Amino acid sequence: MADSKDLMIAENKVVSFHYTLTNDEGDVLDQSDKEPLEYLHGAGNIVPGLEKALDGRKVGEKLQVEVAPEEGYGERLDGGVHKVEKDLFPDDAELYPGAMFMSEDEDGDQTPFWVMDLEEGEIIIDFNHPLAGETLHFDVTISAIRDATEEETEHGHSHC
Ligand code: ZN
Repeated sequence: MADSKDLMIAENKVVSFHYTLTNDEGDVLDQSDKEPLEYLHGAGNIVPGLEKALDGRKVGEKLQVEVAPEEGYGERLDGGVHKVEKDLFPDDAELYPGAMFMSEDEDGDQTPFWVMDLEEGEIIIDFNHPLAGETLHFDVTISAIRDATEEETEHGHSHC
């Protein structure tokens, strides 16, 4: 079996990396914990712009990646913001700004939406991802690369 150091990031590799995500203003939006983030390459598990930038990279490489909205969480679309009754949520729903829920149409198709704001008896929701419209700045260090198992490839995600 090849040493992890010789492996290059390609389809069906499971990659672990540390990252810090900042916006144009330099505010930290997100970062990896003590443990690196693990994902299956080529399966669309991370934003397309970052996945592309990681392609062909090796363990130990550090890179700074700027991802435009169209390669990130998309542009903000008008008409995504709605005001809905609180009654539409289950009684035990944890409602707070940033909370994600799934709406389901008659065909069973699911669409995610996010809580923006809470008003008395009403909830402001947005079908845009909270980071839609943002240029994303990733600071990445690649910590491990391994072959995906058959099961992981089949499922389209890594099993930590
Ligand atoms: Zn699975």
